[in-house]
Amino acid sequence: MKPVSDKRRKRDAIYATRRQQVWERGNGMCEHCYMAAMGSVHHVAGRGGPDPHRLDNLKGLCEPCHRKAHAEPEWARSVGLMRSRIEN
Ligand SMILES: [Zn+2]
Repeated sequence: MKPVSDKRRKRDAIYATRRQQVWERGNGMCEHCYMAAMGSVHHVAGRGGPDPHRLDNLKGLCEPCHRKAHAEPEWARSVGLMRSRIEN
């Protein structure tokens, strides 16, 4: 089994905390349509960069919205669910 680096472990722990914060921020509902339960966390500007799990890069989405965000990037960009990079 591949050993997990400390850096990776720390990142995973941060992500677990942030996912919980996103859930609380959205009261467990999709932060896009507000019609369905939050199913998973979407990375608006992807998972690259030094801190991809920062809260302003995360949106809690229901599964249909999450699927649509990836399947229809133009739509996702127009509704703020996709950016080309993290803006500081
Ligand atoms: Zn939704």
